Amino acid sequence: MFDELSQYLQVDKPKRHAIDELLAPKLREHVFSSLKYDASFDEMDSVSVFDEIDACACDIAEPLTKYCPQCHRQYGEEENFCFECLVKLKHISDIVNVCDIKTHPQFKFEGSNDFQTFEDIFTPENMELISNARFKVKDYNEIIRDIKKAAFLEFDDLIKSNELVLDYLDTLDKILLFSKSFVEVDYKSFGQELGTFSFDRIEIDDRQMQSLQITTLIHELAHFLLKEILSIELCKVLDCTKNSLIDSISTFILVYSPLNRLIDEYSAHSVEGRFTLYGYQDYSSFLQIQNSLEGEMDREEIEIAKSIGNTFSLSIKEILESYIDNDLRDEIKDLFLHQTLDAPNYSMLSLENCNKLKGRGFMKAIWLILNEGFEVASMNIEKLEEYEKNF
Ligand SMILES: [Zn+2]
Ligand SMILES: [Zn+2]
Repeated sequence: MFDELSQYLQVDKPKRHAIDELLAPKLREHVFSSLKYDASFDEMDSVSVFDEIDACACDIAEPLTKYCPQCHRQYGEEENFCFECLVKLKHISDIVNVCDIKTHPQFKFEGSNDFQTFEDIFTPENMELISNARFKVKDYNEIIRDIKKAAFLEFDDLIKSNELVLDYLDTLDKILLFSKSFVEVDYKSFGQELGTFSFDRIEIDDRQMQSLQITTLIHELAHFLLKEILSIELCKVLDCTKNSLIDSISTFILVYSPLNRLIDEYSAHSVEGRFTLYGYQDYSSFLQIQNSLEGEMDREEIEIAKSIGNTFSLSIKEILESYIDNDLRDEIKDLFLHQTLDAPNYSMLSLENCNKLKGRGFMKAIWLILNEGFEVASMNIEKLEEYEKNF
């Protein structure tokens, strides 16, 4: 069924272009030497900045230790109020640590039905609704917009309620705070995995470098967003309110078949790739699934699954780019250049799929995933109940 989708394929030009540039050895040398050149200029810059600070240090009467929570102007220790905003000053050292902020964001969707059991969901009428569903690009775009809006409201609330000043945060904290407007994020210091996503919770290993913590966060966030997009698509078809039952079904759909796992993993991999430097990407997660599929699926089917994953990644990237703009992306790339000692490795770039599905084909793909997935889910209620306890 999925191979019929090949007629809807088109080239994801920005990705193709970026990869072609790196795979062509002459261009690659040029790109890398210009990056190195930049880095040495950076170092020169930072030396001169520090020199200036040193030179001025003797002129500054006292360090600025307080700030105004409203206008963010900085003040000396003896000041108590900002007479501009008429508020009490706070100590810079008291700024809340982003790591310690607990969040539990909820992405709501209201429908006429509010199902309370899986039996209520898997009725013959609902099975019929899904199998006759015609997914529309307009609805899909609305879902992406609603997710963006909900995340921005949560993000804004997090900044205000914790009296944070975004400009004072380092790159990792900016991404961490943004991630916390989508899901709960917890730190761990054990195990092999750099990060995991399960049941609206990301766990991330704090023993790795900042640059890798950032790309791991982005990767796990992509897993959450794909689950969320599928949940809301289901709610729209069934005209129901989103709850833990629906989230359990979309979670099941993304893991029960190797094909869907590959779509999910390739999407997360591609999103991560768009926010990091090519040559520093981790291919292990999807290669493992892809290798397990050899024999079960032919090359063409695997490429279609990757094209579907790549198409999802474009919408997820759009959601994340609403905050992670070019400036912030440059900050992340800088961290990679300064924190990573390994030379970039371009040999794996040939594994990248640079195709995306056109609108109608993409909607067909979503229908194929949900229609089959919903049916298989209806025969695995015990598994769904197990998942539901975790939400
Ligand atoms: Zn002020
Ligand atoms: Zn993954």
